[in-house]
Amino acid sequence: MTHPPAAFDVTEVLAGLTLEEKASLLDGADFWRTTAVERLGVPAVMVSDGPHGLRTQTAGGDNMGVNASAPATCFPPAAGLASCWDPTLVRRVGRALARECLALGVSVLLGPGVNMKRSPLCGRNFEYFSEDPVLAGDLAAAYVDGVQSLGVGTSLKHFAVNSQETDRMSVSADVDERTLREIYLPAFEKVVTASRPWTVMASYNRVNGVFASENPWLLTRVLRDEWGFDGLVVSDWGAVNDRAAGVSAGLDLEMPSSSGGGAARILDALADGTLTQAEVDRCVERVLRLVARASTEAGPAGPADFDAHHALAREAAAASIVLLKNEGGILPLAPDAQGPLAVVGELARTTRYQGAGSSQVNPTRLDSTLTALRDSLSGRREVHFAPGYLLDGAPDQALTDEAVRVAAAAESVVAFLGLPDSYESEGFDRTSMDLPANQLSVLDAVARVNPRVVVVLSNGSVVRMTPWQDDARAVVEGWLLGQAGGSALADVLLGAAEPTGRLAETIPERLEDNPTVGSFPGELGSVRYGEGLLIGYRWYDAHQLPVAYPFGHGLSYTTFSYGDVTVTVGPGPDPVVDITVTVTNTGDRPGTETVQVYVAPAACEVFRPAQELRGFAQVRLEPGESDQVRLSLGRRAFAYWHVGRQDWVVPPGTYGVRIGASSRDIRAEAQIALDGDDLPLPLTVDSAAEAWLAHPEAGPWLKAALRGSDFEGPLFHPFHGPSLRAFPILRLSRMPGFPVREAQVRAAAVRFEGWSDAT
Ligand code: BGC
Repeated sequence: MTHPPAAFDVTEVLAGLTLEEKASLLDGADFWRTTAVERLGVPAVMVSDGPHGLRTQTAGGDNMGVNASAPATCFPPAAGLASCWDPTLVRRVGRALARECLALGVSVLLGPGVNMKRSPLCGRNFEYFSEDPVLAGDLAAAYVDGVQSLGVGTSLKHFAVNSQETDRMSVSADVDERTLREIYLPAFEKVVTASRPWTVMASYNRVNGVFASENPWLLTRVLRDEWGFDGLVVSDWGAVNDRAAGVSAGLDLEMPSSSGGGAARILDALADGTLTQAEVDRCVERVLRLVARASTEAGPAGPADFDAHHALAREAAAASIVLLKNEGGILPLAPDAQGPLAVVGELARTTRYQGAGSSQVNPTRLDSTLTALRDSLSGRREVHFAPGYLLDGAPDQALTDEAVRVAAAAESVVAFLGLPDSYESEGFDRTSMDLPANQLSVLDAVARVNPRVVVVLSNGSVVRMTPWQDDARAVVEGWLLGQAGGSALADVLLGAAEPTGRLAETIPERLEDNPTVGSFPGELGSVRYGEGLLIGYRWYDAHQLPVAYPFGHGLSYTTFSYGDVTVTVGPGPDPVVDITVTVTNTGDRPGTETVQVYVAPAACEVFRPAQELRGFAQVRLEPGESDQVRLSLGRRAFAYWHVGRQDWVVPPGTYGVRIGASSRDIRAEAQIALDGDDLPLPLTVDSAAEAWLAHPEAGPWLKAALRGSDFEGPLFHPFHGPSLRAFPILRLSRMPGFPVREAQVRAAAVRFEGWSDAT
């Protein structure tokens, strides 16, 4: 496949297009290509899923991964990759993906997906990074930097608040603005502002009642006017509701082809005045610019180095593995221990490495964990395998008995458990966090005959860990690790690679502890995000709930200590807070520590989560080695979204800067005082008397007027005063005997007015 021919002049082409050609450019040509206008030298460009590998279909297009696609490297899906907390590695994966795009003639890769993991049940959690917007945003920005560094575009998706699959084509995600700004939008904002993706994909769902694909607030006001996005907005595949409304809201390109329906609707809307020529031209120009940059910026095409990419996929998979528990240091397994190693579980042989749906890659090759373990231990230790269970089946006594026999005769057992393909997929949500019962009964039986059990999990979203994990000395969270995941698991289990992953999401003890109980996946067409800001660890912290494993957790085969911490505040209204901490490897193996910085807010006028991740950095250390880790936090790390001001505000006060190895393993905390924003008090006639009294100018004025009046005593009464002072000044001014009357209060409000309008 070849790349589009050389560039054309966008302005000239725009001027030369007929109306029909313009409308056709706003519609795909088929499943994966934009429409060409050969008359004016405008080629078609090709897009492909995404995100963790290419699903390039040359015939028989579909958006659920049903028909065949060209072989491509399957890197770890985001649920795994996010656990690496390593933007440099993610960027390298992005570059490798871009090389495969160039080899296959793909101009835009449909990813990354940065929707927040609101519920453990979301069927598509495997494609998303985190429950935390800073972590998701930083990693996705690195992905976009990597892909786009070779002149291949990305499509940041699914914009926005597409955190469930149930009813995804129409459900209204009802979310208050502060929660949108602080939780559901920042990962998009970070990628758009820092990495300038070529395209953004509008999601299927509605946001506060309005389809994302025709939502002017999202697609124009926030995305373009506030964040400065200058690329193209494409619909998710089939997400267009009303094409004309989409055009005026800022949805440039409809995909896949609407078979002419969308173009006809645009022409009708132009004819009846629903759409203006300028609105249509704006979208056409963005399509032309995308096509032009795909033609001019694409790096050289050439065959992809699939061997090198497989090696990178293996490295990325190893970095994605999270060692949750390791009692008595049972891991790494000694390659030359006495006695055979029992490997139990069909998932060791039939490795589950990706999720189902549009992101499904046809891998260039596939490493089985069982084979990788056998190869690595060949000639040193026997490996005895028993499948133990069927992937989709009831408990099977004969398989269980066989597993017990193998386990009883082994020095230790590695049991592979996880979610079969049928449990999670794009298109539907799970209804439970539990592992399949037939797997758990095998684990129980095996643990009765051998106490040295290690459990390895394969799952795209978190599973319940209790009570079965008491049967395991070690638990390895293996997520879905892509085509080289089997080898990577063997590397980590045997100590050829160090476990370095950290959880990008909390593993709650029970589904019932999750903040979305009662409001997931919604009812009667809408889903209320009633927990507001308290997604993930923010909720478990606020409710002081025990969790199975906290956000940020992950063990290494070595240990680390945290030494001297310094936190300094730079001058000015945009404080830059510099943090340094000395980390020492206190064990006898090399390892990588992920230093996490959480900010605890100053007391202020709004509710804020107890702590929020605001930065992280990694350091690799040899045994006994120490190094200084440096991080900086900008103003935004301390800000909340002020709905009244429609802006980010840093309240003055004392903030905690917490440095830890996880959200629940804080090793050091420093208090810093920030001047914050000097905001005039929001004073209106509807403000409480209390606010008027506290105002630097209105306060003295009001106190002087009250002196000697009937209201002076009651208003400042130690017991009754507070409830009277909570009255809006306007209501008080109408009461008999209040010394300042309504007209005076209205005039005063104008005089003392701060940021908001007096009513
Ligand atoms: C998915 C997108 C994907 C598109 C194209 C949709 O069903 O939601 O993530 O990029 O199909 O396959």
